[in-house]
Amino acid sequence: MRIANLDGRSTIVTDQGTVDVATASNGAFSASIEKCLSQLDTLQAWFRSAAPQPTTKTTPEELQSSPKLGPIVTPRQVFAIGLNYRQHAAETGMDVPSTPMVFTKFPSAVCGPNADVPVPGPMTDYEAELVVVIGATGRNVREEDAFSVVAGYCVGQDYSERGWQRKDMPPQFSLAKSFTNFAPIGPWLTTLDEVTDPNDLAIGSQLNGVTMQDSRTSDLVFSVPQLIAYLSSVCELQRGDLIFTGTPEGVGQARTPPVFLKPGDEIVTTIGGLGRLRNHATAP
Ligand code: ZN
Repeated sequence: MRIANLDGRSTIVTDQGTVDVATASNGAFSASIEKCLSQLDTLQAWFRSAAPQPTTKTTPEELQSSPKLGPIVTPRQVFAIGLNYRQHAAETGMDVPSTPMVFTKFPSAVCGPNADVPVPGPMTDYEAELVVVIGATGRNVREEDAFSVVAGYCVGQDYSERGWQRKDMPPQFSLAKSFTNFAPIGPWLTTLDEVTDPNDLAIGSQLNGVTMQDSRTSDLVFSVPQLIAYLSSVCELQRGDLIFTGTPEGVGQARTPPVFLKPGDEIVTTIGGLGRLRNHATAP
């Protein structure tokens, strides 16, 4: 199932059109995404058995460009992982970490998939990322049980201001990656059953129509189950939390010469089967 936050209402996305959950279920399920996520299994079972007619004919392709799409969750915690693709570690000249390199994007940076992104400084960079959406509380979750706490996946962009990131020694990531709208997610949540192999998804980004990142999640260093086990050995994972799992090679700062974002730029981020984000950089 694919579930979107359309104009603040939980909306199931089908190839034939969108289904407003509260309307189609006669109020059995809430318009609130948060409430729907708390009963995702029941909602999926209802959707399968009731097979409700779409309430609009908007196709997924049309929908994913809609400015009315909001963030699918309001997370309490946003984890992000550095140097988690082998080729990205290589382009930065760093060794592949022996344990996950964890930082946070503060939750106030989270926004919908097509939000405008004010450019706060001259070294603003892009990072296409597979994002895990947590669906249930979990502490000390074993790798083999990891998917029991996952609601699904979405596309994410980990915007970063590299000047802020390297302002002090040692470098400090979290503020540099938490400016306004620096964490767009979406276009919707895709539940686990719709993703056949999360370890081999095409992931990429385009800047003004030019491909900048073009990789596959098979290059990940630490898998989603490994990340969940590691993070939950310290923090209690909670429904709606996000894990930005890292970016593949091709980021702006690793290029010669470096490429950074400026007002007017268009950044498109895609993951095969999960959809697309489209952001425009604006003046601060
Ligand atoms: Zn990142």
